[in-house]
Amino acid sequence: MRLEAVELRRIRMPLVAPFRTSYGTETMRDVLLVRAVTDQCDGRGECCAPSEPLYSSEYVDGCEDVLRRHLLPRLFAAPALTAAAVAEVLRPVQGHRMAKAAIEMAVLDAELTARREPFARHLGGVRDAVACGVAVGIQESVPRLLEVVQGYVDEGYGRVKLKIEPGWDVGPVRAVRERFPDLPLQVDANAAYTPADARHLARLDEFDLLLIEQPLAEDDLRGHASLAARLATPVCLDESIVSARSAADAIAMGACSIVCVKPARVGGYLEARRVHDVCQANGVPVWCGGMLETGLGRAGNVALAALPNFTLPGDMSASDRYYRRDVTEPFVLRDGRLGVPTGPGLGVEVDEVALREVTMRVDVVDRP
Ligand code: MG
Repeated sequence: MRLEAVELRRIRMPLVAPFRTSYGTETMRDVLLVRAVTDQCDGRGECCAPSEPLYSSEYVDGCEDVLRRHLLPRLFAAPALTAAAVAEVLRPVQGHRMAKAAIEMAVLDAELTARREPFARHLGGVRDAVACGVAVGIQESVPRLLEVVQGYVDEGYGRVKLKIEPGWDVGPVRAVRERFPDLPLQVDANAAYTPADARHLARLDEFDLLLIEQPLAEDDLRGHASLAARLATPVCLDESIVSARSAADAIAMGACSIVCVKPARVGGYLEARRVHDVCQANGVPVWCGGMLETGLGRAGNVALAALPNFTLPGDMSASDRYYRRDVTEPFVLRDGRLGVPTGPGLGVEVDEVALREVTMRVDVVDRP
């Protein structure tokens, strides 16, 4: 396959409700969509990097810049490009995993569309629908939190994740657990605590949580290992897992017993599959995280979550949990699950009218 051109499209997607985490409050997504134009087929990719470098060092303007200056020239120079070769071609460029993931996704979509193969089948999916959870941001009050959780439970979500931070943890979690005694519940700290908070975090043990996600800093694997030894609640890592190798290291150190897989964070769907495989080989269950993706990223994530070791519900919600109008046909929750697309490639139709409405700018970078 030859990469002929790449379209870089910036869109602005207002969220249906502000989403607050320890990193700040998001009300609008500024998304970079990537389209790979090849000699065979076109393919779509989505860059999940947020506007600001708070979740990781990446941010959307930086991703667009590194794509233009450093990633696309290398891919244009590759004589016969395959999706499996993208990571190797881009290996000299350090880091920038979210930018790499976006272009690899587009090339993979083009390649699979050309040979009429769905993402899920290519990745090794074994189920046709995946169980979905929902992530609930930090709310202004506990009564409001209970209202929000009730709304999602009524919509059919079978698992709820509460964002926590110092000052918004034991009290709100207790209130939700008391109101919903049987609800599968987990918490995500987005690296907001320090090892000195171990005793405080152990107070969450009484709420029978599925897991506590990323309590400490991204680079503190040793801290997570000693915290995991002190908590009954299983420790899950998100930000710390940037590759299959880092997953293997974290597991070997006892820093986690569950892994949250995000394709963007590890450099793409193909590395995400390797993270899945490493975890499976070590008996560590995984689930698919979310970065407030549009329907394009959601389609890829749902396909990934069809793999056998994704045994916990993911943060993959229906389109209407995020956006009033998605840029693809909407994903709709049925019995707490989303169906895995079966069409070639990502297997979702882009809603061109909706896409045009949210587009701020489109640039095409041609093969030199
Ligand atoms: Mg997380």
